[in-house]
Amino acid sequence: MTAPPRLTPAQIVALGPLAAVSPPLRRALSGSGFEPMPAPAENDWLACHPERGQKYADFIAEKPLVPEEARRTLALLPLGVPARPGIPRPGLLRDALEAFYALPARLLPRVALADVGMRTRINEHTGKVQLYTPHILTYLKRRLPPDVFALAAITGEDLYPDEAWNFVFGIASPRHRVGLFSFARYDPTFDDEPFGPGDETRILRRMIKVLLHEVGHMFGLAHCVYFLCLMNGSNHIEEADARPLHVCPICLRKLQHSIRFDVVSRYDALQRFYERAGLDDEAAWVAERLREIRD
Ligand SMILES: [Zn+2]
Ligand SMILES: [Zn+2]
Repeated sequence: MTAPPRLTPAQIVALGPLAAVSPPLRRALSGSGFEPMPAPAENDWLACHPERGQKYADFIAEKPLVPEEARRTLALLPLGVPARPGIPRPGLLRDALEAFYALPARLLPRVALADVGMRTRINEHTGKVQLYTPHILTYLKRRLPPDVFALAAITGEDLYPDEAWNFVFGIASPRHRVGLFSFARYDPTFDDEPFGPGDETRILRRMIKVLLHEVGHMFGLAHCVYFLCLMNGSNHIEEADARPLHVCPICLRKLQHSIRFDVVSRYDALQRFYERAGLDDEAAWVAERLREIRD
């Protein structure tokens, strides 16, 4: 079967042949409901970091790590002081991990920053403390439980990966299956703004996006250049906000190869999660995909 004409030649090549794919998955990969990647604006990720893209065949050739039977759990580790009211709880992020990756997810006990022992600095622009991510990643590698495929840490502290960088939202060490992300800059009080109505849902959406994006890297997914996709790189908050909470057909095919989920069951679980979390746009988008994919 050839791919439908709504896909561009580059998207068809990146998706690869679909002859051996099950009919529901093939319908999920048709491209319906997905938007093409727009040309980058001056300050956008692809204007600053030109990337060639990772086709499905490239992904397979790279022999990505897959969650084997004895190591199928995802884990979330809260780091530092608990978030104040209005910031989504780690348990909700755990639920997002479980629904999105169709794997069991576990919330680990909170760890104090002092127990990690990382270098810190004061950011010259914000005047606020930042944590040095390489030291935290080293700690997480040591803490990876034997049954855990990927470990993501979450903190309310701002992060920097290198002296030359201003900050980073999140970072992963894919080969070691660990990563971390910060919600500091999603909290309006970081910029001394008041916490307003609608902020909680917006912050939840941003936190889930960066968490799922970093865990996507742990599955070996590189940045996506083919569609508007959760796996697009992002250089600033407006670009991150414009990125959807779903993965495109090419990234979905990569994840399905590694996790072997049933595409309908996964979307079912995601729809239930989005409804419960108040992410109405995402729930409606998934419902539309299910209508198209189901027999
Ligand atoms: Zn990334
Ligand atoms: Zn993608």
